[in-house]
Amino acid sequence: MEPLKGKIVIAGPCSVESLAQMRQVARALAPFGIAALRGGVWKPRTRPGAFQGVGARGLAWLKDAGRSVGLPVACEVADPGHVEQCLQHGIDILWIGARTTGSPFAVQAVADALKGAHVPVLVKNPMNPDLELWIGAIERLLAAGVPQVWAVHRGFSTWRRTAFRNEPLWRIPLDLRRRLPKLPLLCDPSHICGSRRLIPAIAQEALDLLFDGLMLEVHPAPARALSDASQQITPTAFGRLLARLKIKKANSRVEDYRDHIRDLRERIDDLDAQLLAVLGRRMAAVREISRYKRKYGVSAFQPGRWKQIVASRTEAGVRQGLGADFVLRIFQHVHEEAIRQQEQAGDGAPREPS
Ligand code: PEP
Ligand code: MN
Repeated sequence: MEPLKGKIVIAGPCSVESLAQMRQVARALAPFGIAALRGGVWKPRTRPGAFQGVGARGLAWLKDAGRSVGLPVACEVADPGHVEQCLQHGIDILWIGARTTGSPFAVQAVADALKGAHVPVLVKNPMNPDLELWIGAIERLLAAGVPQVWAVHRGFSTWRRTAFRNEPLWRIPLDLRRRLPKLPLLCDPSHICGSRRLIPAIAQEALDLLFDGLMLEVHPAPARALSDASQQITPTAFGRLLARLKIKKANSRVEDYRDHIRDLRERIDDLDAQLLAVLGRRMAAVREISRYKRKYGVSAFQPGRWKQIVASRTEAGVRQGLGADFVLRIFQHVHEEAIRQQEQAGDGAPREPS
């Protein structure tokens, strides 16, 4: 049985804790037809006092549990020693964790250790929202001849306080897919959410965005888990989640859908053209203003005026049903472009003589 039609689902505990725990979770998960059983044995914890994983002895437990139900097993690696031990234990799939992806030296060392190994590797996004770093790690593995590389979106650590442990910032995995369209892309809602309650919505959102699958943390007794207790779910909750998730199609051939979509897209094309025309006219007015500022030696940036724009535009935007944060970000971009245009017109700092 395929748990979600056409999708790859990897599940298992955050950490391998014992042989009994792994066998129990493997038995509970196997009937759902998952693609692989996960479990970390080296845990990159933020603080040294936290549980650091059971180490290499856990690899035998992971493999034994997978074998007992006929499932491939997946484990995290962060250095060449980990790779070597995983290969010795017949671990079928490896993943590179978020903290490692952000370190090109570590990724290169892992990639070098994988030369000739023929195991698939999943690359989680780096902790920080840096698409190039993520792509760089993927490229290092591909260059080492890793036969199958998959990307895993697990959210990003940002300065903003949100409901999530790691902000999803969907734009980044979507940009990754635009840049590397053939690369399978999974979502890891557990590490995005940090709390079980948020997982169904994020998992559904990933499927709505046509992700190729999910990686989920499932533990036989989440409350007693030695790591990431608040985001792990029981096998029963996992089953309920799978049953509720809806797979969306990339398209529909139904006439009613196609007619409406065509009309609505035409309307949107027209509105976008209007938006751009208005922005163009706004920038032309900015250039006019800049002529007067130049003439009278006034600076391009006017803090008082900017404050007033932010307040009034946010209020007007909210009245139009837009999010205040969205309106603020739009006007930050508009303002940056206005300053750039004024500088180009000769208002900026003196340039190096060429
Ligand atoms: C994990 O999968 O348990 C893990 C440590 O993930 P991440 O690297 O995404 O934090
Ligand atoms: Mn975890």
